[in-house]
Amino acid sequence: MQRRSLVKLGIVVLLASFLGWTSLSAKNAKGVDFNRDKQRVLLLSSSGYKDTGYLNHALPWLKEFVEKNNLQNKKIAFVPYAGVRKSYDAYENQVKEALRSLGVEIVSIHKGKVKEQIQKADAIFVGGGNTFELVNQLYKNDLIELIAKRVSEGVPYVGWSAGSNVAGATMQTTNDMPIVEPESFNTFNIFPYQINPHFISGKPKGHNGESREERLEEFLIVNPKAVVYALPEGVALWIEGKKVKVLGMDKNAPLLKLEHKKDIQKINIGSEFTY
Ligand code: ASP
Repeated sequence: MQRRSLVKLGIVVLLASFLGWTSLSAKNAKGVDFNRDKQRVLLLSSSGYKDTGYLNHALPWLKEFVEKNNLQNKKIAFVPYAGVRKSYDAYENQVKEALRSLGVEIVSIHKGKVKEQIQKADAIFVGGGNTFELVNQLYKNDLIELIAKRVSEGVPYVGWSAGSNVAGATMQTTNDMPIVEPESFNTFNIFPYQINPHFISGKPKGHNGESREERLEEFLIVNPKAVVYALPEGVALWIEGKKVKVLGMDKNAPLLKLEHKKDIQKINIGSEFTY
C-alpha cells in the first residue's frame, strides 16, 4: 500500500474510533452527584388529585414552600419540555394561571436563552408530561448538570409527575412510552433514588398487561441495588437537605418503598425520614 493511502486509512480509523468513543460515553453519561445539604425540593406525584383541578390540591403546600423560601415576587424558571400535546406557550399560561395566587413570576425557559434563564432563576419548576421528551430536551439544552448544580446551591426546585421523576437518579421508573431516545437515562439525582409517580396498585379487571408492581419488580430484578419510591396520586415529598417529609391527600394512600426481594414498605403520610 502506498504511504498516502496508509495515512488516509490511519485517519479514517482514528476518526471512527473517536466517533465510537464519543457516542459510547454519551450513552453512559455519568449521573451528577452534588452535595445535597442545601437543597429545598418539593416533588408532587401528580398535577391533579381526583377532579380538584390543575395543581389545585397542591396549592397549600406550594404556598408554604414559596413563603418558607422567600419566593414571593421572585422569578421562577419553568421547564415546559415534558409538554408534547400542548405548545410551550400554552403550558406556561396553564401553570401561570394555576399558580397565580402564589404571587411569583413564572417564565418558561423557552422564552429566552435557556441556560441564562436557569442561571438567573430564584427557583426552578419542572412540569409533567412525557418523561422521555423531557429528558431528551434537558440533554439537548445541556441542562442536566446545570439544574442539579443550582439546586445543590440552594435554589428551590418543584416538580410534578415527570418533573418529579427526573429529580431522581434515573428516569427508568417513569410510566411513559419511549417516544424519543434521550442521550442518557440519568437525571438530576437531586434525590438519589428512583421515583415512580402516579403509582396505582393492581390492574383493572380484564387487563392482561403488567401491573405497576410487576413493572417495578422487573426494574428491581435488573437493577437489584436500586431503591424505588412510588408516589400514589396526591402524595408529595418535601425535601430539605437529606430530610424528607411525606405529604399526601389520603392517609390510606401512603408513600411506598420498593426494594429487590423485599416486601413493599409503606411510609405514612405525615412521617419523616432521612437518607
Ligand atoms: N406522564 C406522567 C406525567 O408527567 C409521568 C409518568 O407517568 O411517569 O404526568
